[in-house]
Amino acid sequence: MNETNVKRIYADHAATTPVLPEVVEAMLPCFNETWGNPSSLHQDGQRAKELLVSARATLASTLGCDPSEVYFTSCGSESDNWAIKGAARKAKQGRNKIITSKIEHHAVLHTCEALAREGFNVVYLDVDSEGIVDLDQLRREADDTTALVAVMMANNEIGTLQPICEIAEIAHDAGALCFTDAVQAFGAIRFNVKEIGVDMLALSGHKLGAPKGIGALYIKKGVRIANLIDGGGQEKGKRGGTENLPYIVGLAKAAKLAQSRLDDVPRIIKMRNRLIDGLCALPHSKLNGARGARLPGNVNVSFEYVEGESLLLWLDIMGISASTGSACSSNSLEASHVLLATGLPIEMAHGSLRFSLSHSNTEEDVDRIIAATAEVVSKLRAMSPIYPGN
Ligand SMILES: *Cc1c(COP(=O)(O)O)cnc(C)c1O
Repeated sequence: MNETNVKRIYADHAATTPVLPEVVEAMLPCFNETWGNPSSLHQDGQRAKELLVSARATLASTLGCDPSEVYFTSCGSESDNWAIKGAARKAKQGRNKIITSKIEHHAVLHTCEALAREGFNVVYLDVDSEGIVDLDQLRREADDTTALVAVMMANNEIGTLQPICEIAEIAHDAGALCFTDAVQAFGAIRFNVKEIGVDMLALSGHKLGAPKGIGALYIKKGVRIANLIDGGGQEKGKRGGTENLPYIVGLAKAAKLAQSRLDDVPRIIKMRNRLIDGLCALPHSKLNGARGARLPGNVNVSFEYVEGESLLLWLDIMGISASTGSACSSNSLEASHVLLATGLPIEMAHGSLRFSLSHSNTEEDVDRIIAATAEVVSKLRAMSPIYPGN
């Protein structure tokens, strides 16, 4: 197990990604040269303004929308909060229902819980065993009391992709708005906001090679939501605060790079499938999430009779970074709300492991992950009093 001199394998890109060198390079001039306030009328400010305008246009082009529909925020969680609370607070009289799913990120779930405490009627859609939302239930629930339907585009734990076009259509048929958390999907799969038809969409920089602490919210022209930060006139007066120009420029650069690398996605899918097959060949293992409608880099497998945390720590010693689900819940020993919603028994949910691959991973990484996981799983089972045959 003494593998300290072996190159580490980072397979936790769903938690965060390293900042890409090209992104750092694009950001540096904003610290050294173009440090002005984009609202200032002098040349120092106007040069910064040009970078801001250009970054907004770049991000808009990767989303397929107009630059005026892009609002910069401080993170994905902020975008989630703003979209949902903003829509709820601007909803027409009589529309106090918010429909979301049981497998959302906590930034969405806890926001909805906060609104429920304020008196909103929050409905949580069920998902099937692959993690796909129940569209019939959505059709039944979406009515003239519904203000918003909020369903994520891709799940961060099990990678399931939702039928988001249909979800948006059902929401609109009921006269409600549709919001999607695309934090995991943006940069990982090809999409265009206009084709999807959602009214709002959240994304975050650090999931695609930009730094932590920058995000954006797409708000379709004509959609009215409550302002987030009252302050100066930044972000059309809806989200005040002097713009974080270096990070905004970094986000735009990362989005552009991610788009140019979408051609490499088939290679990631191939690695993912080989990793899934290798792990699922181990006895008493089960793939979580869908085979087909799945994020290119996501692998989530449950190993019966094994604790996910033990597995994670042993893999870490062997130079592999993985996750037991979502990094945000790794401090608590509660089983994943996502896995439980798919109907997975609690013991299996505790034995789950997520690997999230990206462009930087290789076939050799996949081989090492399979071999190391096989070794650790059999070692842990050999010590388990409940493993059959022990
Ligand atoms: C990471 C993540 C978030 C939160 O984004 P932050 O920028 O870390 O706040 C929200 N939703 C999903 C699906 C995520 O994966």
